Amino acid sequence: MKPIYMDNNATTRVAPEVVEAMLPYFSDLYGNPSSMHAFGGNVGAKLKAARQQVAALLGAQPDEVLFTSCGTESDSTAIHAAIRSHPEKRHIITTRVEHPAVKNLGEHLAKNGYRVTFVPVDRQGRLDLDYLYKNLSDDTAIVSVMWANNETGTIFPVEEIAAKVRERGIVFHTDAVQAVGKIPINMADSAIDMLSLSGHKLHAPKGIGVLYIRKGTKFAPFLMGGHQEGGRRAGTENTASIIGMGRAAQLAMDSMQDENTRVRALRDKLETELLKRVPASMVNGDPENRLPNTTSIAFEFIEGEGILLLMDQYGICASSGSACTSGSLEPSHVLRAMGVPFTAAHGSIRYSLSIYNTEEEIDFVIDKMPPIIERLRRMSPFWKEGRIA
Ligand code: PLP
Repeated sequence: MKPIYMDNNATTRVAPEVVEAMLPYFSDLYGNPSSMHAFGGNVGAKLKAARQQVAALLGAQPDEVLFTSCGTESDSTAIHAAIRSHPEKRHIITTRVEHPAVKNLGEHLAKNGYRVTFVPVDRQGRLDLDYLYKNLSDDTAIVSVMWANNETGTIFPVEEIAAKVRERGIVFHTDAVQAVGKIPINMADSAIDMLSLSGHKLHAPKGIGVLYIRKGTKFAPFLMGGHQEGGRRAGTENTASIIGMGRAAQLAMDSMQDENTRVRALRDKLETELLKRVPASMVNGDPENRLPNTTSIAFEFIEGEGILLLMDQYGICASSGSACTSGSLEPSHVLRAMGVPFTAAHGSIRYSLSIYNTEEEIDFVIDKMPPIIERLRRMSPFWKEGRIA
């Protein structure tokens, strides 16, 4: 059965064009880009082209693009670079709704001598900006705020925050893993100092990431060794994946329009129809400032895991609002930070679409979801005869 894949914030299909661009670098073109001979040098030239392609997507200069192994490495590199370049500063600001790549690092640093401020969000998932600004101090080494939330799709005003943070001479980093490729980004016109992205969220393979570092930003490498990446990240380059990343960046520029019109319309249809057909359901997060591909819907009084299992029988792939990937059935820290009641957080499903989704798939899901929810509610102690018990 071909999956109906609506879990693109978890990972995406590698675009066929990306696979095609990468294949020669697994077979005939295996040279080391750092070699002196032409065989390796030709691969080096392709890496240079890929760097330019990524820079074009970000509105950046090619030498501001650093290739890493994933979004997590980019986030860690950025935060460590800032704290190691400013050893006298012992304070970090981030938010309560970051991906674990930032959240868990923040919690680790908090246990290891740093003061870490986690900015709260309101019921709609919007950041308390006053709280953030009030906490900026001369001791702050870095502010890290995600561009868009992976669970709800909520977009944060990172440009506005970066401008305020820059006035204080503090480094600003954004985890833009979910934003890049879905919404326009132009670093030439921005006060953001560092930005993370991840290949597998935009139809490149898993295991390739990028850290944008604005020229002039103080930086200390995380991986030390050879001279690769201008001495900013040692280790022989993942050549095939970097070339795939470049091609994916090019494709993302071409598909951005489709993402913001057709994909948005599909998402809106799915959301509107499910809310209409399923009682006691609601959207989590800011419905206005939101990624075009994401909707997180709470189906109250049932368990997300049960919903996913029944969806899986039809080949429908999505994610739940609990952190089951970490082996716990606790509702996600994002929904908890927003104050979503437990009975709603537990039954939250995130649908995240891509340019590969079709209207037929949306119609299929709209058709299958209401009986799934009804079946589970019949077993729920909170639900009796079509309403809350
Ligand atoms: N940041 C965000 C917002 C994400 O959604 C993810 C992945 O889900 C990451 C970071 C981590 O990226 P990677 O899987 O490439 O390490």
